[in-house]
Amino acid sequence: MFDDLRDLYQEVIFDHNRNPRNFRVMDNADRKVEGFNPLCGDRLTLYLKMEGETIVDASFQGSGCAISTASVSLMTEIVKGKTDQEAQDLFKIFHEMTTGKDEQINLEAVGKLAVLAGVREYPARVKCATLAWHTLDAALKNEQNAVSTE
Ligand code: ZN
Repeated sequence: MFDDLRDLYQEVIFDHNRNPRNFRVMDNADRKVEGFNPLCGDRLTLYLKMEGETIVDASFQGSGCAISTASVSLMTEIVKGKTDQEAQDLFKIFHEMTTGKDEQINLEAVGKLAVLAGVREYPARVKCATLAWHTLDAALKNEQNAVSTE
């Protein structure tokens, strides 16, 4: 990865960590699931507002490291307006990107989420980046139980 691209990615992560998007309690949420990454201590509560199959609003609360906060912040932005299926597809692509199964990152498919591709070089941080998505997956499946990455 080029150094200037790496700097840009880090800048986006810092920005989302400093000013997380959609960081609020959603009183009229249809789905509410808690996620926990014991490895790092990241905790979040994810809220979704659904209209049929479409995610019309997403927000979160919680505290975690910069990677987990940036990841859930970016995720709540990107899944708004997506259908259940589109969000699940994105999770799959994101998971492959962060675990390095897919050598070539499909920039068109992942969009802004590409900023988190760097975690593949730090296996201990992969769970920080994927916690938000595992929690989303549980919310979309309408599971009530808290999600743990362990
Ligand atoms: Zn973390």
